Amino acid sequence: MDNNLYGYSIEQLNKLMKEENLPSFRAKQLYNWLQKNQALGWEEMKNIPHTMVQKLKDAGYGCSLPKILSQSTSEDGMTVKCLLELEDGEQIETVLMRYRRSSSRNRNTVCVSSQAGCAMGCPFCATGNAGFKRDLSVAEIVGQIALMNRIIRETEPDEQVTNVVYMGMGEPLQNYDQVIQSIRLINHEQGLNIGMRRITVSTCGLVPRILDLAAEGMQVTLAVSLHAATDEKRAKLVPVNRKYPLEQLLAACQKYYEATKRKITFEYTLIEGENDSEQDALDLKRLLKDVHCNINVIPLNVVSHADFKRSRFAHRFVKRLNDLHLEATIREEMGLGIDAACGQLKGNGGV
Ligand code: SAH
Ligand code: SF4
Repeated sequence: MDNNLYGYSIEQLNKLMKEENLPSFRAKQLYNWLQKNQALGWEEMKNIPHTMVQKLKDAGYGCSLPKILSQSTSEDGMTVKCLLELEDGEQIETVLMRYRRSSSRNRNTVCVSSQAGCAMGCPFCATGNAGFKRDLSVAEIVGQIALMNRIIRETEPDEQVTNVVYMGMGEPLQNYDQVIQSIRLINHEQGLNIGMRRITVSTCGLVPRILDLAAEGMQVTLAVSLHAATDEKRAKLVPVNRKYPLEQLLAACQKYYEATKRKITFEYTLIEGENDSEQDALDLKRLLKDVHCNINVIPLNVVSHADFKRSRFAHRFVKRLNDLHLEATIREEMGLGIDAACGQLKGNGGV
């Protein structure tokens, strides 16, 4: 496995301490430094002896976080986008969205990348357009959340990341094992302790992996990028629909609901003339009438490589769905000014 200890569970650290003839209580200390305090490196770990650090280093172990190449903050200060460089030079992006509401506790949501690039080829998405580079390791996924937690603490020492959405670059269910391990790490009570219900995994619809996820016994929210309600239309927007058509996808969603009793979120990127008509609303009703779900309508964020247009009818479309007794809302827009909105992440510094 990867030798970056940021990706290690407490059990794996325990095993490592045994292998390296180190006292077992050191595992807990290390875990604490990494998963709870998000240490930047060995230097910050005040109670870890130098000899132990040297021993681990000699055995090839490290504990590094991705490097921040640039950091942009939206005008209102509520969205932060980081361009990160991984050890092999690949670049990814991570977005922090802060929500401040007087009525409820603050929310700090991190949108993480699960792959460098993406192989799924959805034509309206900047990540898909750039093609697939590689899967991220557990440490690289957890590292994005750790970095964002450090950024939050700079200004608000009592705050931390409260929610995580796997909606950055990449298809999380194509990097299944690493994504699952990262979820278990950020959920761990001795780490960030982010509740399963505050974690969302978004997929373009990899049916076998949705079924695997249903069997994990985790209460994470499943978000499915639907975007169209007929196979013909969806195949154009989400090419993987040719492999896993709607009937299979909806059956998998039903299984997920039965296993977790969690409503499914359907993401529906609204594109003018493609999927925003009265007929599209009726087709959605037909498809989803018996599904426990809510529909998250995302007005298309225009990306330079494709000539799809942002629909002007988002409010009308959502109202129509509500009239048809479907639960639907428009996704709150954040980060547009800094190219940090849905589908705009491409990991090249925004040039
Ligand atoms: N690969 C996963 C998760 C990342 S994308 C997935 O596709 O579900 C997160 C969401 O943004 C998906 O629903 C995706 O289809 C949507 N999206 C992609 N490009 C977009 C764009 N240009 N405008 C609005 N939403 C977009
Ligand atoms: Fe990949 Fe999701 Fe973009 Fe499709 S929308 S190309 S699955 S990141």
